[in-house]
Amino acid sequence: MYPRHLTDFDLSQMNREYCDFLVVGSGIAGLYTALRASRFGRVTVLTKKKMEDSNTEHAQGGIAAAVGREDSPRLHMEDTLTAGVGLCDEDAVRVLVNEGPTCVLELVALGAHFDKRGEDFALTREGAHSERRILHARGDSTGEEIEQVLSWKALTSSGVVIHEDIQVIDLITRDGRCYGVIALRPDGQKVAYLSWATVLATGGAGQLYKNTTNPSVATGDGLAAAYRAGTALADMEFIQFHPTALYHPGNPKFLITEALRGEGAVLVSPAGERFMPRYHPRADLAPRDVVARAILDEMRKASADHVWLDGTSLGAGFAERFPKVYETCRGYGVDPSVEPIPVAPAAHYMMGGIRTDIDGRTNIEGLYSCGEAACVGVHGANRLASNSLLEGLVFGRRIANSMKDHVDHSPALRRLSLTDHEPRRPWPGTAAEVRREVQELMWAKVGILRDAAGLDSALRRLAELAAFTWSDPLTVEAIETANLVTLARLVAKAALIREESRGSHYRLDFPARDDERWRRHNLLKRED
Ligand SMILES: Cc1cc2nc3c(=O)[nH]c(=O)nc-3n(C[C@H](O)[C@H](O)[C@H](O)COP(=O)(O)OP(=O)(O)OC[C@H]3O[C@@H](n4cnc5c(N)ncnc54)[C@H](O)[C@@H]3O)c2cc1C
Repeated sequence: MYPRHLTDFDLSQMNREYCDFLVVGSGIAGLYTALRASRFGRVTVLTKKKMEDSNTEHAQGGIAAAVGREDSPRLHMEDTLTAGVGLCDEDAVRVLVNEGPTCVLELVALGAHFDKRGEDFALTREGAHSERRILHARGDSTGEEIEQVLSWKALTSSGVVIHEDIQVIDLITRDGRCYGVIALRPDGQKVAYLSWATVLATGGAGQLYKNTTNPSVATGDGLAAAYRAGTALADMEFIQFHPTALYHPGNPKFLITEALRGEGAVLVSPAGERFMPRYHPRADLAPRDVVARAILDEMRKASADHVWLDGTSLGAGFAERFPKVYETCRGYGVDPSVEPIPVAPAAHYMMGGIRTDIDGRTNIEGLYSCGEAACVGVHGANRLASNSLLEGLVFGRRIANSMKDHVDHSPALRRLSLTDHEPRRPWPGTAAEVRREVQELMWAKVGILRDAAGLDSALRRLAELAAFTWSDPLTVEAIETANLVTLARLVAKAALIREESRGSHYRLDFPARDDERWRRHNLLKRED
């Protein structure tokens, strides 16, 4: 059994800070929620490194919204449901596609500049989209543009206070209600942030894997803390592996945006042959899981550690349309306008997460979640490219609207008391060693291709690691590693339970989709 909290504490002895709404995370979901919520009360945002340290900052391709003349929310919905392979929540998808265009235009009103062609947005197309509906900024710097605009707005908003370098450890809950979080300051002090409503916008957990496009902050802390507190985590087996990360030793793997294939780049085998038409009618723009498995297959056949992505058809236009990809490739000695780029798959996105309703509510009163940390049901078994930035906006906005009813001017928050003094066992090795082992294990046994034998053996080892939790003094690395161990077990467990292949979850021992048994969600809760 996991401990309820990762650390000892006594609220009555701790530094305490108060606000109306607490938002954890400074990516698109956290900052947008904070800005919207500041209309109704005082908001505090906590973030574990600097504001821009987030997956959002790294997003390249763009943000999907049905704003084009030929497009409609209905078409966007159809594409999203198809990509989700029968597991999307239709109400949530309807909200996403219908409210998406308004949210994107709000972002423009806040100051975000998306690329234009004449008066219209320059819309691009990505895998599994039937229309051009991806807005992008400075070519392939969409996330950076959004992060800059939202950070600036939050920093200059009188209703939002931002604390950087604050590592949230656990949620404070009592009698089924959430009252904020316990966090670690850089000086090693623990502090309680108390609030009437708390939003976990802590992003995903790409760091579960040896090869990932995610930055170091993506350790799934919010999911693990929510799990310890008793929320349900849904669909944890569905991890999206991006087919095309730049192949080079080191972590994180730089993403080569799918929009490049949308603009005509093609995948080429180690032997120099174009292979995607053999795997799917949409060829290079097939769903990501299909492309990732096809690449693995080609790599296996040629005993190679990468394939090639040939974007030379863009020629001199490459640098203008994809400046970030161009510059990064040049930094690794590849000129993508005249030669192909070495690429291989990497863990990229978590479809599952903290189960919420369409207003971002969890099963714990006063606790909300949105963005990549949450599972509201818009992605199902596979995310449609560029829907995740949109998700952060749409559901962040809805959370802000529903949180306003929580503000309470009673002294209850100030009187709250809670302690935990459970015994804890330190790991035998260092946190860094444990993390490395988990990342290797997940890549080898809970990766793109899975089977019962591999999942079983991963679970056995993870159970051994989970018997230990770091005791005081607590460090950021130890907290993150404990969270990774918890989540690794949940991903492996959910993957073992789902005896079929669907979307991003592929079982070598159950290669077919099985709607009769498995057109349903996997929900994991601590008590189970
Ligand atoms: C390389 C790359 C390219 C991508 N390209 C696209 C794209 O083109 N289009 C698209 O739609 N999506 C894209 N995605 C996915 C998308 O960027 C993310 O899903 C989205 O940005 C998630 O936003 P978020 O606000 O939920 O989380 P994040 O942006 O990851 O923010 C999470 C925040 O929580 C903070 N945090 C985490 N744990 C703690 C803790 N314990 N205490 C305090 N703070 C904490 C983090 O520091 C961070 O500030 C891409 C992702 C990557 C990695």
